[in-house]
Amino acid sequence: MRENDIYVLSFDEEVKDTLRSMVSKTLETVLSSITSDKCYSGIDPYKLRENISKISVLPPQGLGFDKALKKVEEEILPHLLSTWSTSYMPHLHSPALLESIVAELIIAIYNDSLDSWDQGPAATEVELIVIKKMCELFGYGDNSDGVFTSGGSGSNLSAVIQARDKYCNDYLHYDVKKYGNPECYKKFRLYTSEISHFSFDKAAHIIGLGYDAVVHLPVNDKCQIDIKKAEEIIERDYQAGYLPFMVVATIGTTDFGSIDNVSELRRIADKYHMYLHCDAAYGSGAIMSSTYSSRLGALNLANSITIDFHKMFLLPISCSCLIVKNKETLDCFSLHADYLNREEDEEDGYINLVGKAIQTTRRADSLKVLIAFLTRGKDGYGKIIDTVIGNASYFYSKLISDKAFITGPEPELSSVVFALDRGDEVNKKIRRDLMSEGTIIGQTVKDGKVMLKFTLLNPALTHDKIDSLILKLKSYY
Ligand SMILES: *Cc1c(COP(=O)(O)O)cnc(C)c1O
Repeated sequence: MRENDIYVLSFDEEVKDTLRSMVSKTLETVLSSITSDKCYSGIDPYKLRENISKISVLPPQGLGFDKALKKVEEEILPHLLSTWSTSYMPHLHSPALLESIVAELIIAIYNDSLDSWDQGPAATEVELIVIKKMCELFGYGDNSDGVFTSGGSGSNLSAVIQARDKYCNDYLHYDVKKYGNPECYKKFRLYTSEISHFSFDKAAHIIGLGYDAVVHLPVNDKCQIDIKKAEEIIERDYQAGYLPFMVVATIGTTDFGSIDNVSELRRIADKYHMYLHCDAAYGSGAIMSSTYSSRLGALNLANSITIDFHKMFLLPISCSCLIVKNKETLDCFSLHADYLNREEDEEDGYINLVGKAIQTTRRADSLKVLIAFLTRGKDGYGKIIDTVIGNASYFYSKLISDKAFITGPEPELSSVVFALDRGDEVNKKIRRDLMSEGTIIGQTVKDGKVMLKFTLLNPALTHDKIDSLILKLKSYY
């Protein structure tokens, strides 16, 4: 049999040998392309585009796997981003734990899907136990539930839909699922911090409320929602006839890692019958640390929580879930199709997860969580979190005691935001210079000033490396 005549995996030993050899060749090729701790080759975007655009994407005749791999080895691998590099720290974009890379292989081999039980029997059951564990970790009770999603943005969108639907059902006695947004929809208001993730604005657009429905609440000097001002703004809107239906606490803002006060926001939410959502896409990983989990606050008071496993949990993209305190709120995604998720099957114990999700075909991402949790345990995960948050504290302590730097808020999680006290242009130049040398850091704006951002998710980063980075930055002073 020639390799190109073998299509898919089977129990045939020759077919298994073919896959075995493809996987081991690929692994060797990838591993031998990794020769330093640089995260990026430094090639400029025009040159890279020119090289890659020369690839003939669909040749009339196939090249066979070896030649295809060779092309990838020559043109693509050298310029992929190495997320495991300790020189990569701009975004909430993590390296993947070794065991989770292997988990991806299992997921790809089986290619199970989570729409209906018959498309992923064990995958469905794994998602159920992982969701149950996450609910338990965050202090939710027996009536809780959840679902894996495409990412934090997908989890947040699901939460916004649930909040809108719950508000319509409970307070307006209106079936939004059937009729669409009620006539008063222009009065709907969703409150979130001015530095929260833009997925809430996108969600407001997607569900037909528009950006104007999102009110961005001011933050205090710790970059948390200013509770007093928030209460004034919401009361003013309420008096003016607006309909506050949702408030969001960000548990780890994307830029600063700052954490909103959930208990206070719950109190305000209750006053106006609002749904409270915690966007813990970033901060959720800290739940694994006995030292730092209390920083997250009383997340169990929220109606729902966004958890990203592809950030602090160091799992491969994509891997995220939404958990809800009351499983009924997920009903807004239920819909039955004769060909897929018959109600009669569900009565016989076949659980079809499609009824909880926006997506239909859905990867078995929960298997990555299971394999990593089994491998590390809570203790092993806690050590990872303690290391990355500890690194941010160390970094910050060096900066705060040095007059060359202007610092942002003290880190609660693993992000450090600061500027060299030499003006915007010098700070922008530092980031560009570092990038051309293979070190990528982030940049943002605070109070109108360009700031540098270090998002420290890699537990392999050492204090020595932090010291040498600071020295390098100071050479621009
Ligand atoms: C990253 C992030 C998101 C978006 O998550 P994706 O997985 O990138 O879609 C949402 N909220 C916060 C606070 C984030 O940091």
